[in-house]
Amino acid sequence: LMQLAVPLNFIGFIYREIRQGLTDIEQMFDLLDVPAEIADRPDARPLDVADGTIRFDDVRFAYDPERPILKGISFEVPAGKSVAIVGPSGAGKSTISRLLFRFYDVQDGAVTIDGQDVRDVTQTSLRAAIGMVPQDTVLFNDTIAYNIRYGRPDASDEDVHQAAEMAQIADFIDGLPQGYETMVGERGLKLSGGEKQRVAIARTILKAPPILILDEATSALDTATEQEIQASLDLVSRGRTTLVIAHRLSTVIGADEIIVLRDGQIAERGKHADLLAIPDGLYAQMWTRQSEAIEAETRWRKAREED
Ligand code: ATP
Repeated sequence: LMQLAVPLNFIGFIYREIRQGLTDIEQMFDLLDVPAEIADRPDARPLDVADGTIRFDDVRFAYDPERPILKGISFEVPAGKSVAIVGPSGAGKSTISRLLFRFYDVQDGAVTIDGQDVRDVTQTSLRAAIGMVPQDTVLFNDTIAYNIRYGRPDASDEDVHQAAEMAQIADFIDGLPQGYETMVGERGLKLSGGEKQRVAIARTILKAPPILILDEATSALDTATEQEIQASLDLVSRGRTTLVIAHRLSTVIGADEIIVLRDGQIAERGKHADLLAIPDGLYAQMWTRQSEAIEAETRWRKAREED
């Protein structure tokens, strides 16, 4: 019987490993919302990143042919610069990031990186070049160290700790009884939205991609957390070509260009000050509304503190 016990144990071990692997893959696909039909062309080459310039040329796209989402979008994110996409909910902001990742193919026009159409390169090389800090990070059911190291599996412990430091989550991790070996995810320690986002930032710091997509959380974080996260994001995006999908305007003030999307078209574009100067402009209106909302919230918090 003992002779059987060892292999059975081993099979159990392999089974658990495979099951965990599958959970990871499933989660990854959920996370990335990847439709199955996108495949590499037979002659696909690896993306050759020179300086990481992104271009959208007259891009048209619809999930459902009846309902166009992007109706001729053109813009460039020059190497190392940052462009922010803003606009009302449902305008198609996140869709732009999905097309850059080639989760879907454009119906017309082209998305290129350093002159190479994303449809002509291998998906593995495309995704290796782009780092994504998503709205809502799904963590793997594994340790914090595993979740950070996912950005670069051969990273040393020291690299992992340094990335955590830069993402401003190191103190939090050091305060946990099991530190970096703490299990997180559905079956482990539940992290807050801000903590999860910092794990995603640490992961991206390790990956050190030439291109970054920051898909800002729609769920409001408290102002202090938001400012801390913004500081880590600024650090990660320095010198990298960055596309920011912004839901709050406070985070786009410093962008090299802001693109205001409305009904799948670019309604306005420019720097923060230029856009504010457009009388009755969409951006100016959004700015006033958000400022009023922030002021109202501040007044409400103050009143509550005084109670
Ligand atoms: P928000 O600010 O609310 O996140 P957004 O500007 O990022 O919005 P997108 O997520 O790009 O908007 O969605 C644009 C439109 O496309 C929405 O009307 C949405 O319902 C639709 N849409 C998004 N994903 C899909 C999908 N997988 N299938 C069909 N329609 C979709």
